[in-house]
Amino acid sequence: MLGLEKKRVVVTGGSSGIGLATARWLLEAGARVAICARNESRLADVAAVLRRDFGDDHVLSAPVDVLDAETVGRFAQQVRDAFGGLDALVNNAGQGRQSTFADTDDAAWRDEWELKLFSQVNPARAFETDLRQSNGALVMVNSLLALQPEPHMVCTSAARAGVQSLLKSLSVEWAPDVRVNGIVLGLVGSGQWTKRFAEREDQSVSREQWYGDLARRKGIPLGRLGDPSEAAAAIGFLASPAASYITGATLDVSGGLARHI
Ligand code: NDP
Repeated sequence: MLGLEKKRVVVTGGSSGIGLATARWLLEAGARVAICARNESRLADVAAVLRRDFGDDHVLSAPVDVLDAETVGRFAQQVRDAFGGLDALVNNAGQGRQSTFADTDDAAWRDEWELKLFSQVNPARAFETDLRQSNGALVMVNSLLALQPEPHMVCTSAARAGVQSLLKSLSVEWAPDVRVNGIVLGLVGSGQWTKRFAEREDQSVSREQWYGDLARRKGIPLGRLGDPSEAAAAIGFLASPAASYITGATLDVSGGLARHI
């Protein structure tokens, strides 16, 4: 139905959380998947499990910092050599930064813009030709903060709005060859939330309880955090031929937290 059988997909930040769930989701749908991340040992461990579950020829992994354009370029060549091209690129690598305007210095502003913009720009440049050749898809993983900024995440929110702007421009510049879409996430139980849960004040509070309280405080209508697999399903759909008439679109995966019309 999704048409992902034998499709070749790159997932940046594929060693953890949403990226890993996406890689697994795509592999289950029959795709061949290349993942990258910076921490080599975690990446190797994850890739070994994926290879065991889905076969050596379906999984490629490479240590890559997506902010290093040269390394990303080498990764693109590795993907070409192994898969013979690319059908979809999922730009997922990254993390958020908590800081208000008062405690964000210039270096933090620059770091945040560099991370948010170049984690999209570098892989998009490196794989553009491949995606054009295959009439492929780019999926940008973004946050609801892009549309609904929060003062305690001031520079992340601003940079994420920039990513939304890039999505719209690219979806026109790359049309009709490549579809360019994105998802905006609310709170997903991975990355920073896993870390904050581990560091909770009262260690006797269960994960379910802690996430439930958090969801209530944040006013998430579905009453819970999203699971990485739920973000993966939205990403996988946009990356797949099933989304063949969708470009320039953003899918909100926030459990109803998005309040704009
Ligand atoms: P995780 O921390 O679980 O995973 C992040 C992944 O990105 C890891 O594989 C990490 O590996 C990799 N990564 C980070 N920086 C780089 C880099 N410079 N180059 C290559 N790989 C990198 O986070 P999540 O799964 O929760 O988040 C995935 C994406 O979704 C992120 O971009 C995040 O900002 C965004 N997001 C998440 C939300 C949430 O609630 N979870 C909400 C809104 C947005 P390594 O460190 O080894 O490089």
